[in-house]
This record gives sequence, C-alpha cells and structure tokens, in this order.
Amino acid sequence: MSDDNDGKKTLGVRGGPRAGNVKQSFSHGRTKNVVVETKRKRVVVPKPGASKPGATGNPALGDPSKRPAGITDAEMERRLKALQAAKAREAEDAAKREADEKARDAERQRRRDEAEAKEREEREREAALKAKAEEEARAKRAAEDAAKAAAEAAANPPAGEPAAPRAQRTAPPAGGAPARRPEKEDRQNRGKARDDGRRSGKLTLNQALRGGEGGRPKSMAAMKRKQERARQKAMGTQEREKVVRDVQLPEAIVVSELANRMAERVADVVKALMNNGMMVTQNQTIDADTAELIIEEFGHKVVRVSDSDVEDVINIIEDKDEDLQSRPPVITIMGHVDHGKTSLLDAIRNAKVVSGEAGGITQHIGAYQVKTEGGALLSFLDTPGHAAFTSMRSRGAQVTDIVVLVVAADDSVMPQTIEAINHAKAANVPMIVAINKCDKPEADPMKVRTELLQHEVIVEAMSGEVQDVEVSAHTGQGLDQLLEAIALQAEILELKANPNRAAQGAVIEAQLDVGRGPVATVLVQNGTLRQGDIFVVGEQYGKVRALINDKGERVQEAGPSVPVEVLGLNGTPEAGDVLNVTTTEAQAREIAEYREKAAKDKRAAVGAATTLEQLMSKAKEDQNVSELPILLKADVQGSAEAIVQAMEKIGNDEVRVRVLHSGVGAITESDIGLAEASGAPVFGFNVRANAPARNSANQKGVEIRYYSVIYDLVDDVKAAASGLLSAEIREHFIGYAQIKEVFKVTGVGKVAGCIVTEGVARRSAGVRLLRDDVVIHEGTLKTLKRFKDEVKEVLSGQECGMAFENYDDIRPNDVIEIFEREEVTRTLS
Ligand code: GDP
Repeated sequence: MSDDNDGKKTLGVRGGPRAGNVKQSFSHGRTKNVVVETKRKRVVVPKPGASKPGATGNPALGDPSKRPAGITDAEMERRLKALQAAKAREAEDAAKREADEKARDAERQRRRDEAEAKEREEREREAALKAKAEEEARAKRAAEDAAKAAAEAAANPPAGEPAAPRAQRTAPPAGGAPARRPEKEDRQNRGKARDDGRRSGKLTLNQALRGGEGGRPKSMAAMKRKQERARQKAMGTQEREKVVRDVQLPEAIVVSELANRMAERVADVVKALMNNGMMVTQNQTIDADTAELIIEEFGHKVVRVSDSDVEDVINIIEDKDEDLQSRPPVITIMGHVDHGKTSLLDAIRNAKVVSGEAGGITQHIGAYQVKTEGGALLSFLDTPGHAAFTSMRSRGAQVTDIVVLVVAADDSVMPQTIEAINHAKAANVPMIVAINKCDKPEADPMKVRTELLQHEVIVEAMSGEVQDVEVSAHTGQGLDQLLEAIALQAEILELKANPNRAAQGAVIEAQLDVGRGPVATVLVQNGTLRQGDIFVVGEQYGKVRALINDKGERVQEAGPSVPVEVLGLNGTPEAGDVLNVTTTEAQAREIAEYREKAAKDKRAAVGAATTLEQLMSKAKEDQNVSELPILLKADVQGSAEAIVQAMEKIGNDEVRVRVLHSGVGAITESDIGLAEASGAPVFGFNVRANAPARNSANQKGVEIRYYSVIYDLVDDVKAAASGLLSAEIREHFIGYAQIKEVFKVTGVGKVAGCIVTEGVARRSAGVRLLRDDVVIHEGTLKTLKRFKDEVKEVLSGQECGMAFENYDDIRPNDVIEIFEREEVTRTLS
C-alpha cells in the first residue's frame, strides 16, 4: 500500500511519515490530502489503546469534524499507527487462535488414534509373547525396538508430516502419556517434529495449513501407517532373531496349533507349508516330519514328544514320606463257588449296619466300608470272584490289599480255591483264610487246613504265617475275629496314602443310570476326591457333580480307600479303569482322547487284523508266554469259532495254545508272513492256501496243515502242545488241475475238461474240489481220460477229462487238488 504513481486514482493509507493523511491523487498530477475514516477503525475503537495516552485509537481520523478538539495531525498520525499495530496484532492473534484450535483438534484425534493403535499393538504383542515372555527379554527388546524405530525415524523423517500440529503442540509433559514402550519411540518422533517447528520460527497460518493441501491433514494417517510399519519391521525381525522357542512336537499336529506353539502367525505357517509344497488349511493335521521342517524354517527348536506324553501330567506327583498317612485296607473275598463269598460279604455288612449304622440303608455300589470293634476302618470290595480281581488287575488297577480266601469247611479245597490262591500269589497280595460254614455238623476245618498245605498255604494253626479264622456266614460266628484279623494284617502292611493331593482311584463298577447318566463307583486310592474336581478316567473324563457314599448319602469328598459313586462323567468307564484328577478340563479331555485313540488302534489291530503289520503287533503282545502259536483259516465262521474254542481248552500250566489269528477263507500271503514272524504253523480247515501263499510258504519254510475233521486238527495240536507231534506230513499233494469246461456225458454224468497245472494227476489218488480255495468236495475219481482213453496218469501241462465219484457239482475255474495219503500219518494221536 503505497502511493500510486501510475496516475490511477487510489485510496490508501500512507505508511510514511505523513501516514496520518490520505493523499488523493487525480489525473494530471492533481492531488488532495484527505483524512479518511475506515470502517475498521470503529471496530478497534474500544480497544485499550484508546485509553492509552499518546496511542489513542481515533474514532474520527478522516473526519476533522468528528475529531476531538485540540488534536493535531501528528497526534492523529500516532494514533493511526497505534491503531494499525493493534489491528495487525488482532489479525495475528485470530490466525494463531484458529491454527491453535485446529492443531489441538488434530492433536486430540491423533492421540486418540495413537492410544488405540497402541492398545491394539499391545494386545498383539502380548499375544505373541505370552508363551515365553520373560520380563527381562521383553524389556531388552523393547529398548531395542524403540532405539531402532527412533533411528529409522531419524533417518527418514516422514514426508508430508504435518509440521503445524506438531509444532503447535505444547511440549508434552513426561507424564502426558503413559511412559510405555511404544510411546517412547513416538515421543522421539514428536520431539523431532517440535524441533522442526522451533527452527522454522513462529507459526503462520500458512504453516498451519501447509500439511494438508486438500485442506485435510491426511498425512497423519500416513505417518501412523509408516510408524506402524517401521515398528512391525523392527519387531518382526528382532523376534525371529532373538526368541528361539522350544516347540513341543507330537506325532501329528494341527497347523494352527503348530503356529501357536511357535508363536508365529497362522498365515505365515500356512504360507511356509505352501512353499514346501503342502497345500493345507490351518485346521488340517500334518505329520511330525513336515512340522519339524517348518519349525526349523522359522528358526525354532524342535522337541519331539510322543502322544503318550499327554499322560505325564497325571504321573508327576510324588508323595513325600511326611505327607503319607495310614489308610484303611481294601479287601477282596475270593473262593470256590458256593463256598459262601456272597453270604459272608452280606453278613459282615449287615452285622455292621445293624450294630453301627442304625437306620442306614445299604447301597450296593460295589464296595463298602465297615468299622471293627477295635475301631479300624475296612473297605470291602463287593464283587467277589476271580474274574473281577484279574480283570481289574489286567486294566492296571491293583486295588486289593488283602484277599480273604473263603473255603467251606464241608467242602474243603476245590479247583477255584486253588485258582484264587494262585491269583493272590500272582498279585502278591497277602491272604487270610476264612473257613466258612463252621455251623454245619459235617464241617471239618482241620481238613481245610491240611489240604491248603498242599498248595503252599500254611495257616497259623499249622504254625504258618497265614491267619485263619473259623466263621459262619449264617450264624455270624467268628465274624468279629475275621475283621480283627484283617485289621491286624493291615497294620502289618502299613498301608499309607497322601490325602492332600489330587485324587487317584480305581473304578470298581460303572453303569449308565437312566436318571443320573453314567455313574462309576470309584475307590479312592490316593489323595482326596472332591465335588467339582475335574478328572480323567480311562477313556472318559468329567467333573465331579456329586459324590455318594455306600450308605447312599451325598458327601463333599472322599479320602484314600473310601468307595464313592461319582456322578458327572461324559461316558461310562470300565471296571478297573484308573481315575486321575487333573488341573484343567483340557488336560482331562486330551488324555481321554489320546486313550480312546490308542484303544481304537489296538482294537483295530486285534479285531479285524487285516494288514500284516497289525497281525504282527497283535502277535507281539504275548511274546513272552510259553505257548504254541497257531494260525487258523476255515471255510466258515462257525468252524473257525469251534476250533478256536477247542484250542483254548488245550494246554496246561506250562504251555498253552494261542490262536494268533483266525479267519475265514483261503490262506493268504499275509497269513504266511505272520506265521513266519511268530514261528507258527498255519492250519487250514477245509480251505487251501492260494498260489502266492503256497509259494511264499515254501520259500519261508512255513508249515501249512490242511484238515477236514475238527477232531483230527485238535488231536494234532494237542500232541504238538505236548511236544509229541513229529513234523511228518500226512498227505502228499501231488498235483493240481484247473477245470476249463464242463461236459455232460450220458451214462457218466458231468465230466470236467481240465488242464493239469502242477504236478501230476493220478487216477488212484484222492481228489478235492476247490472253489475259491475252499474245499467243496473230497473224494475219488471215477474217471481220468486223456483224449478218449482212460489213463493212469496225466502230467503237468496236459489236458485231461476227470469225473468225480458220486459228485457232479463241478464248474469251470474250479480247481482239483490231487493228493495221496501216507499210512504213517496218525501214529501220534
Ligand atoms: P458264593 O457262590 O461263594 O457267593 O456262595 P454263596 O454266598 O452264594 O453261598 C452258597 C450257599 O451256601 C448258599 O446257599 C448259602 O446259604 C450257603 N452258605 C453260605 N455261608 C454259609 C454258612 O456259613 N453256613 C451254612 N450252613 N450255609 C452257608
């Protein structure tokens, strides 16, 4: 704004020494000095400057008429100057306020975004680190993180960063934002931005708006993205370098679980698998070898674990001596049938219920507890018999501490008495002899004692160590003495358990109750089982919903040797299954699932053994038993079963016959393979080995024996089991012929047009008709013809006609087996 010299008429305020005047210029050099009043002047009039002496804003500069009297031009000029200064300040203030406001808004938004981003990032980071985040490692990494990010930020300052908001922001106080890791780096950046602001001097409106050319501070998001990228880059690379994890690798693992164990992103793992040529989704299972490749690719360490390791969590508790407390003994009653086991159990229980637990209703839950006169607690298993005892033992639960051997005084020692003795001995469980039915007039307890001697049971009355008590389940005679004898034996055994640990027990009985669902009677063996406990039992798991004792009462907990009914199972376990309390349901489920799978595999191997490997594994199970293994193939299931049953009966204490595998149909190569591996002969009952099996058997030296009469087979096996059977062959197979065509010849009947495929066909020999390697008929030949002539022999490769004596159901493709018997075959039977 200056004087205009181009001749144009302008209106301006002069900034020179005569600034108080406005000079009007007209054409042809005419000028006119006027004092002008601008509208704005009126606005600023009330400003404090007006009251200031010497700098008073004048309301009527341009209008001398309105000028207060006595004000000179110089004075006017001063006032005008002051006015201008005030105006400039005001404009600047307004601009500044506006910019401030904008910057503050932007800053607020930015902080909000940052807080969110930070939170998100924090979450991600925590998830990533949760597996093995040692605090120091984290702190260290954090420091490095920040340093790296800062270095990066310093190296390339973000382009388009909105300088204004950053410059405008008042220096953030140290506590302005939580002094956390990601914030550090952020502050570095901010600090840098502030420096820029300071260097550039005062903020102008231009500066304030420079960042967003479109009027929008878009660089904020861009910058954040950039920071995020930088951070991720720093974090990602560092983590892989720094944190090498031990990755537990089972035999098979689901992709997502693998990623989880490595603390890597699932997508990265899937990508890595794809790079290795495996197209899988995150829910698919991969084998350990593939997983190992991937784990190594990600730079972690592989720790191979076997599936069965899932069970480790329940086996790790070791009881210290000082934690152990004495526990009641668990007693099983065994003996010959009808010697009074059930009667004795009932007598003991009833005697105690009547005398001790008045009004109590006895619940048959498979076990019960009684108290002796002397105050000792005894737990009786309610299921007498050897089957229960051994089946529990075979399932891994050695529950019984003491066996009470019941022998009827009127019957003395019987086969099952001996069996019971053997079971108790095998289980290494001490015995107490209860000589029952002593109320009977014919009772002879001494006979029992002497007979027991023969079986190495020397009772105290015979100066041995085994306690013996004369009792009567009917009269109740001797019951108390029996209980005291048990209590005494228990004392000797010093039975101990630690009640203050996670419970472990054995299932005595289990059933599916209509109203209550699966119910199992569990005898707690160690620890204390409580309502609410999570447990695994055999292939089942659950959470204890209720505990019911032998008197039908609900209880909160059950300590060692206490039998309780457990409710809250997901399925019905089996007697003998072991119950273990676990910390989490996931553990319980994992163990149960593992066991279920293992059991399924085992069943598959035993039941429908089809592959050679399965057959082998089945055969291996019983390797160390002294036994005669055999393989059996039969024509129909009925005969196979009959033979297997007959086989099971063969044998004595030293040796028994074990049918490794039995089935229906021809003897195959896999049968031969199994037989070879187990050193077993193969028995074919009305079936034959097919050609490959025959060859294989010849090569491997596996003996195949064919039978048509069960008796013969059983006799031979009996002889073999006693080591008497020589390896003599009873029949010679001299040839095979295959039927090509069947003709009807009047007067002769059906004639088979054959080709001799092996050996020789002899007119005098015995023949069998085989269809699909199964014997259809056995007999003799009516005719053997070569062309039109009756011949004695036809050699391999030649064609011939054959007809059977009294049999003519012959079809093309049937095979005729030609054999000769040897006279010496049955000398052993
Ligand atoms: P378990 O097969 O061993 O369980 O024998 P039980 O308890 O069923 O008894 C078989 C039979 O013997 C039953 O008829 C009982 O009544 C009878 N019995 C059991 N104990 C005694 C006893 O102490 N005295 C007499 N006289 N009979 C008894």
